[in-house]
Amino acid sequence: MSEPIFVTQSLVPDAAEYTAHIMRILSSRRLTNIGDYAVTLENELRASLGIPHFLVCANGTLSLQLALHAAKLQGREVITTPFSYVASVSALLWEGCTPVFGDIDEETLCLDPHGLEDLYTEKTAGILPVHIYGNACDVEGIAAFAEAAGLATVYDAAQTFGCIYNDRSLLSYGDFATVSFHATKVFHTVEGGGVACNTDEAHKELQLLRAFGHVGDEHYTLGINAKLTEPHAAMGLCLLHRVADNIAGRKKISRMYDALFPARGLRKPRLREGLEYNYAYYPVIFGNFPAATRWCWSIWATSCRNWGARARPWKPT
Ligand SMILES: *Cc1c(COP(=O)(O)O)cnc(C)c1O
Repeated sequence: MSEPIFVTQSLVPDAAEYTAHIMRILSSRRLTNIGDYAVTLENELRASLGIPHFLVCANGTLSLQLALHAAKLQGREVITTPFSYVASVSALLWEGCTPVFGDIDEETLCLDPHGLEDLYTEKTAGILPVHIYGNACDVEGIAAFAEAAGLATVYDAAQTFGCIYNDRSLLSYGDFATVSFHATKVFHTVEGGGVACNTDEAHKELQLLRAFGHVGDEHYTLGINAKLTEPHAAMGLCLLHRVADNIAGRKKISRMYDALFPARGLRKPRLREGLEYNYAYYPVIFGNFPAATRWCWSIWATSCRNWGARARPWKPT
């Protein structure tokens, strides 16, 4: 039997290091509510990202929802891309927004700012572009349009941890940018995420929204629970110092694929110039569509047959 090859595997900390943190958390009996570990992780992330207004959250999806909320986009029309993970759109729908889909750039696979003009109406309130696969959107083009039209920009930067664009963290672009620290991402806290913003006011608002809208006994606004717990923050502190190595290892493997994969018919998205990539993914584009479609179709048909044979209606026992 040969060894299985995994498409993705979560990075795990040194067991003794993580256990020591857990023992300390247990004896402190402070398990959540933005305790020492969450505060320390938040400070370390602010320093390493160079973003003073950065908050950790329970996951990337809630981070996106808090950002949409703080950007005052609830219930409004937001231009976005369909080419993303489902959470980009589900966050919009959960906030009662109407997503308006723009096309993507054929080369970078990110929202094409040239299409924004045609989609814009008087109802448009914001833009939610996605730095897909960690590639950088045309942040200059999007910012120019957003500024001229008076639109708020919330980037779904879930996949970008470690990406630097023009000497700044990719998370520092836009009015808000959100990141995911899910176990499958380059850096993670098992479940977790964060929001970056630019102003003290937005920072305070996000802090309130993250913790039910109250501070002590004073209730200020309608909030939700999006706090990162202490055991999750401890995971982040164990893994943060390994991110650079992780990215360097991914880069090496990615270069190996570049050298080994047959170039014919396989295209890679063009990374934006000025981007230091995190090698989170290795996306490929099939040039030969009929062949690629046939291949996908046959896999799909096979898996449907297998599913049909195994599927049973689910009943609670
Ligand atoms: C991972 C991901 C999310 C969701 O993040 P969670 O932390 O899993 O909630 C949202 N958008 C994109 C593009 C992602 O890759």
